[in-house]
Amino acid sequence: MRLDRHTPDHPTKAPEASSTGIGAGASGTIALQQWKSASALRELPARQPLPPAPDEVRAKRRMIDSHGRTILDLRISITDRCNFRCVYCMEPDVRFQPADRLLTPSEIVRMAGIAEGLGVRKIRITGGEPTLHPELETIIAGIRNTTRVEIAMITNGSLLTRNALARWKRAGLDRVTISIDSVRADRFARVTRSTATPDDVMAGIDACIVWRRNALH
Ligand code: SF4
Repeated sequence: MRLDRHTPDHPTKAPEASSTGIGAGASGTIALQQWKSASALRELPARQPLPPAPDEVRAKRRMIDSHGRTILDLRISITDRCNFRCVYCMEPDVRFQPADRLLTPSEIVRMAGIAEGLGVRKIRITGGEPTLHPELETIIAGIRNTTRVEIAMITNGSLLTRNALARWKRAGLDRVTISIDSVRADRFARVTRSTATPDDVMAGIDACIVWRRNALH
């Protein structure tokens, strides 16, 4: 599969009558040539689900970005909530999506499985702030039990504790990436607009170091 902004799988707007290649790129044109009138479309039989592809075909599937690079990593944002309001990310009065507009844990796990089938080897769980998700452990365990991808998490580190890390590790987490904008309290407060401090994040980093050290023994 090649990802290309200009050749969508499905044209977003159907022409009103029969059409032969109006605008659009190569694959879009092919699709447009198949459009009939709106009433003719309504008469088409419902699509039957395709049978699963043979293993040798699945093994060769991969996603390629617009620079020709094979996509091996996928970030999945499991929540839009965050306890920070970084100046480069979200406004203090940001309005979050209602919970029912977000992916459920089972949908996230399913997405990870589909991505693995397309060649992805690492899933990065992110947000917002993923440690705020009440079912983070379930999500990690679900991905671990249904795929063989590496599971990493990107966090602001302010809520990391040794106990939480131990639980996530038991669930299947392989790697944690922590971002910190400054170790100076005043700069940190200015950038993150949060009540957390650099010391909170450093404590999270310490917890990861202990976790790693214990894993090596
Ligand atoms: S910690 Fe990350 S997600 Fe949260 S506001 Fe800052 S940049 Fe955005």
